[in-house]
Amino acid sequence: ELVVEGYGDGENSNEDIRAVVNNNIRKIGPVLDPQYRPGDVIWKILPEMSPDKVIAEIKKSNIRGRGGAGFPTGMKWELARQTESDEKYIICNADEGEPGTFKDRVILTERPKLLLEGMVIAAYATGAKKGILYVRHEYKYLKTYLENLIKGAHERNLMGKDIAGIKGFEFDVRIQYGAGSYVCGEESALIESAEGKRGEPRDKPPFPVERGYLGKPTVVNNVETFCSAVKVLLNGADWYRSFGTKDSTGTKVLSISGDCRYPGVYEVEWGFTVRDLCEMSGAVDVKAVQVGGPSGSLVGPEDFDRTLCFADLSTGGSLIMFNYSRDLLQDVVLNFTSFFIEESCGSCSTCRVMPVILRDKLQKILNARGVKSDVSDMLEWAKVLKSSRCGLGQTAANPIVTSIRNFPDLYDQKIRGKDDYDTGFDLNRATR
Ligand code: NAD
Repeated sequence: ELVVEGYGDGENSNEDIRAVVNNNIRKIGPVLDPQYRPGDVIWKILPEMSPDKVIAEIKKSNIRGRGGAGFPTGMKWELARQTESDEKYIICNADEGEPGTFKDRVILTERPKLLLEGMVIAAYATGAKKGILYVRHEYKYLKTYLENLIKGAHERNLMGKDIAGIKGFEFDVRIQYGAGSYVCGEESALIESAEGKRGEPRDKPPFPVERGYLGKPTVVNNVETFCSAVKVLLNGADWYRSFGTKDSTGTKVLSISGDCRYPGVYEVEWGFTVRDLCEMSGAVDVKAVQVGGPSGSLVGPEDFDRTLCFADLSTGGSLIMFNYSRDLLQDVVLNFTSFFIEESCGSCSTCRVMPVILRDKLQKILNARGVKSDVSDMLEWAKVLKSSRCGLGQTAANPIVTSIRNFPDLYDQKIRGKDDYDTGFDLNRATR
């Protein structure tokens, strides 16, 4: 039987961090480890390691980006190191805006020193001298807290000049707050915003490691990625690889919310099934789970034995549970589609227009006026939406597409008997 212990020691919050590793209940997880002693890596390990060795260890750990996309962290740092430039930057993306995602907020409040240490390590590895902690507008209440921590890091020689006695190693971090825009979580829009411009995504390539903040090589990593990198150096790549699966090593910090008894932040090894997470969070009568927020997938009981990992269900860390009392199309799919309409920056015509058309079609179906071809139209338009410049447009149709694929009956019920013309459309074939 799975029992989950709560954990929380933050001075500024009463957040409850729950960590479960391989079903053996531990009060802590490797990343959210309360035994961690800030500065240990910077003082004891960095002076013994060259930047190349740091990158080699990170590469060996096989850690991949924790924001959702899973790009290999070691490779990202190496690319930034190899790009010749007089200036380089490290940016921490703490703009988590995906509905249902709040793990970075908890890390910022509970383990901020771990995060700052990770940024310092990335600076050492890549040769960057300046860093930006880009925090979403809604977390502005952490301002004084975070500023004091950065001040404290300077006082302890964990930032500033000749860090930890390493001659010539200097690094400083400034904090930048967003202004409430979801798209600014996309790294190139975030960079534009940090430069004081309108937060709109750039065309990629070039990727930020080549041309990022102020046109200089820039590493942009998620909060959790920096924290995980500290633990890799502290305990070694082999230790880190002992968690998770072969291709998805280490642990993942998850935000679990919705219809469950124990919502909160959990740290689990990659490879847990959706069913494990339902049990862990005390969710019963689960009709659907939104894995990876609105830009991820809405999955039903048939998929509950699938595993969280990059090869199967990858996630930036959000799981929202829905029980049988929920009207999935009205309360979830329509709501999430409206969210994307609200948050589109509008620079691509696909992203500006298509989600509105999709929402109107869905509304038509919900109003019991839909026909079969409305469903096939939505799937076709979803393909067009994929040509948008950034992840927002590319994933904006996911609530509709994944609900059609995994809950075709919900659509069937609404359009049954209303197929006023036969398009020859086969729902099963179209979603395969
Ligand atoms: P992406 O695959 O384009 O890029 C991922 C990272 O790898 C970026 O940092 C990018 O610069 C880097 N990269 C990719 N190819 C590269 C190359 N050839 N050379 C150098 N660097 C390279 O994905 P993305 O658009 O940045 O992110 C999409 C993800 O964001 C989705 O998986 C989604 O789950 C997640 N997401 C997270 C949140 C949140 O709140 N955490 C919100 C929305 C979306």
